[in-house]
Amino acid sequence: MRLIFIYMNKFEALGLSEAIIKAVNEMGFETPSEVQEKAIPILLEKETDIVALAQTGTGKTAAFGFPLIEKVDSESRITQGLILSPTRELCLQITNELKNYSKFSKGLRTVAIYGGASIHDQAKEIKRGAQIIVATPGRMQDMINRKMVDISNIGYCVLDEADEMLNMGFYEDITAILSHTPEDKSTWLFSATMPREVSTIAKRFMHDPVEITVGHKNTGSENVSHEYYVVNSRDRYAALKRLADANPDIFSVIFCRTKRDTQKVAENLIEDGYNAAALHGDLSQNQRDLVMKSFRNRQIQMLVATDVAARGIDVNDITHVINYQLPDEIETYTHRSGRTGRAGKNGVSMVIVSKSELRKIKTVERIIKQKFEEKEIPSGEEICQVQLFHLANDIAKAEIDHEIDSYLPSINEVLKDFSKEELIKKFFSVEFSRFHNYYKKAKDLNTVGGESRGDSRGSDGSTRYFINVGEKDGFDWMRLKDFLKETLDLGRDAVSRVDVKESFSFFNTDSEHQDNILAIFEDFKLEGRKVNIEISKDSGRSRGGGRRRRDNNSGGGFKGKRRSDGFKPRGKGRRDNDSGGDRGGSGRRDRRKRSDRR
Ligand code: ADP
Ligand code: MG
Repeated sequence: MRLIFIYMNKFEALGLSEAIIKAVNEMGFETPSEVQEKAIPILLEKETDIVALAQTGTGKTAAFGFPLIEKVDSESRITQGLILSPTRELCLQITNELKNYSKFSKGLRTVAIYGGASIHDQAKEIKRGAQIIVATPGRMQDMINRKMVDISNIGYCVLDEADEMLNMGFYEDITAILSHTPEDKSTWLFSATMPREVSTIAKRFMHDPVEITVGHKNTGSENVSHEYYVVNSRDRYAALKRLADANPDIFSVIFCRTKRDTQKVAENLIEDGYNAAALHGDLSQNQRDLVMKSFRNRQIQMLVATDVAARGIDVNDITHVINYQLPDEIETYTHRSGRTGRAGKNGVSMVIVSKSELRKIKTVERIIKQKFEEKEIPSGEEICQVQLFHLANDIAKAEIDHEIDSYLPSINEVLKDFSKEELIKKFFSVEFSRFHNYYKKAKDLNTVGGESRGDSRGSDGSTRYFINVGEKDGFDWMRLKDFLKETLDLGRDAVSRVDVKESFSFFNTDSEHQDNILAIFEDFKLEGRKVNIEISKDSGRSRGGGRRRRDNNSGGGFKGKRRSDGFKPRGKGRRDNDSGGDRGGSGRRDRRKRSDRR
């Protein structure tokens, strides 16, 4: 059977004319890219300003180039369209593309203007008539000043790679150039990212722009929450480990300031049994490729990187960005935090700061126009609870390996005298004692300079609770706070330190409410499920007004590397009471994770 299609080229469907369709066919473009599909019909149809956000390589040139070619009058020799682009290379590239696109558009001339070549030759080219000029801002400004170009009649001004142009310091040039253009022209802004400077330009020079975004807006801002943790500088590493341990499914980039720190932190993490690696400029390209490959495969859960080395990281699903140190250039923070919260996912950007750096947090807040939440490094007790529940969830979710079946009768024989409850307890004791031993005497890492923090927890009057609802029940910290306030009928600030994990949470109230709260939750159901609440043993850790225990992590630690792979039979290296690890790894990085996540 033969089918005959009446075929309409997908570019024709966008409303492009025959001359361009011919060029498109000749260039071998088959389907419009997303940004082309979105921008071209709008720009052809009406006179409007537009802000289009799309990554590099998505075909932005044609997205503005096709409509521009359609719109200019090739019978007139007057300059009607101006494209500003950040570099000479891009300028030439765009000119070249436009020449290809307009190959069948009779009379249309596109001229490139850029530094480092004869300004007089360029002026001559323009004099011959150029409906479209593609220029770098510096040279353009120069030629305007020398009256070598006239852009007073343009109908369209394209700002291509606007973020790059502003990065390169062209703000003044751009504003000066725009002041020579007519008020009623259309401005088309194309950019890969939308930093503040770009939105300033958009606000200042554009009227009611149509906005289109292809893929995910690169700011990441809406999806990223920002947290900071105040610790003594010497506790940075211990704090990092706690943050990792309190987030068992972490998949993170950890930023350090120098190559040396990067290397050192990564080495320490590896030694302590985490799936970590370093990424910095002293590695060969080959080594870096290998690290990135393992990271993409989730074989590495914690990638420790310098800012420069991490620049190209385009891995989705990064759950946490950890600023081991804040960057020297505070602006760099945006690039760091933008590694998470991509592709519509949520992410957390954490900053470990010392007290003396606290004011920098304010600066960052101004730059990112978002507030930080001050949080506390989780205590050993909290981490143990998190890990315990994670383990329980893992067990619940685990697929049964039937190879064990043949051993079952003998195992049953060994365990036959224990109840289910006892077995669970024993199982957890075996699996968990090492972790617990490490953390049970871990000190409080949060620094308050000897003062109480001014919330309820500092004084003795506060109780910390554990509750078995969490993110998977649709709670975030605000929702849980609201829920608790309502359920417990407490005042506005009665519930504090709400920390929501995947399947459970913590919060504090004044101890005076304790009995009442336990009574309310005695028999409480949420959507049919029994809600359990318990006093977290950790509740009084700050009692005694700012006195900190002096024991540090080094005492009872163990080299977590020797920790076994989850539930698989343990290897020879197992030592339950291994002390003497000098950094004290909690080391709960299970190799098993790899296959879990794929
Ligand atoms: P951007 O400006 O978004 O970085 P470009 O406009 O430079 O991207 O386009 C990147 C490459 O893709 C160019 O070589 C261009 O010719 C090509 N291209 C653009 N649109 C299409 C399309 N619809 N089909 C195939 N190739 C395309
Ligand atoms: Mg481009």
